[in-house]
Amino acid sequence: MKFSDIAGHNDTIQALRGMADAGRIPHAILLSGISGIGKFRLARAFAQYIHCSNHINGDSCGVCPSCLQHQNLNNPDLHFIYPVVKRDGTSVSKDLIEQWKEMLSDWSYMPPEKWNEIIQAGNSQPAIYVNESEDLIARASLSAYQENFKIFLMWLPEKMRPEAANKLLKLIEEPYDDTLFILVSNDDSKVLPTIFSRTQRFRMLPLSSGDICSHLTLNHGISDGIAAAASKIAEGSMGKAEELACHPDEILEFSALFKETMRMAYGLKASRLKSISEHTASMGREKLLRFLAYCGRMVRENFIYNMKLPQISMMTPEEEEFSLKFSPFIHEGNVEKLSEDISKASSDIERNANAKIVMFDLMLLLSQGVRTPKPTRLPI
Ligand SMILES: [Zn+2]
Repeated sequence: MKFSDIAGHNDTIQALRGMADAGRIPHAILLSGISGIGKFRLARAFAQYIHCSNHINGDSCGVCPSCLQHQNLNNPDLHFIYPVVKRDGTSVSKDLIEQWKEMLSDWSYMPPEKWNEIIQAGNSQPAIYVNESEDLIARASLSAYQENFKIFLMWLPEKMRPEAANKLLKLIEEPYDDTLFILVSNDDSKVLPTIFSRTQRFRMLPLSSGDICSHLTLNHGISDGIAAAASKIAEGSMGKAEELACHPDEILEFSALFKETMRMAYGLKASRLKSISEHTASMGREKLLRFLAYCGRMVRENFIYNMKLPQISMMTPEEEEFSLKFSPFIHEGNVEKLSEDISKASSDIERNANAKIVMFDLMLLLSQGVRTPKPTRLPI
């Protein structure tokens, strides 16, 4: 991964490169921001830059032995730490290295739900356990094999168990001279304060739709129309945009299905609602989750539209056309309940509940919600 492979984030790239060029690399860095904006890609690019022996135009060369090892995910001085589930003797990152390589190659924007899927986490929540810290301390005490720095790249430090974090504290506080920790967090408010306070922090912002759009067309060869639609509705996350752009027909399909659902819900057409719930249940879990995410977004967007704040609306022109008529039905009297009902259905599906039942229940709740009258304001 090179800096030139990173979409957006020019300020952070410049700051990191400046520290490396000046030989003033801190011992612990925290990159944080919402999921899917490329933080882990940037951490990888920075690690490669530090190890590269032949910088070209402010970037790593991509061809020296270190760069090749980085690209093949086998540089002996680059260590990855990530959440795992404990089972069958698995308790530390290196036990899942093959799955990890699959994740980095196929899902470099690191959606956590994909990681859960790859490691078949099921209902378990992956975490970074105390054995990981012990393993890491042992690795850190050895000198670097070939590079000037041993780099520990930790994905999701917020998943560190308190015992694991306490064990690591001393190492982060008094590190070996040749050790660098790069922590990459989707939610830095959940990183333990003792760790958080010992890092140099960079908050990274969601990507602009322009950055997302050009990345999709240049790097994935996606057509301008699809890229523009996906970038508009991805809410600054390249991870989401890539997923949307991988399923271009879904944007249209979901939009038609959402309109139909809302019309039938408002008209209380029970038999039609039942067939919609059966149809959506048969989509399969992953697609159904994407549809529910779409519904949640449309409820939010229509509320924003109803509030007459089109400048912060993130809808495609077709969606906006529907909202002209539909948005008055989403207001302060029902927006919260509708959003909650949709996200509850989503977590039930994630937990493998019966999709037909969940979706039919949701249809009834949507009917109730969308028919809730707008509260009248009291005259002051
Ligand atoms: Zn190089």
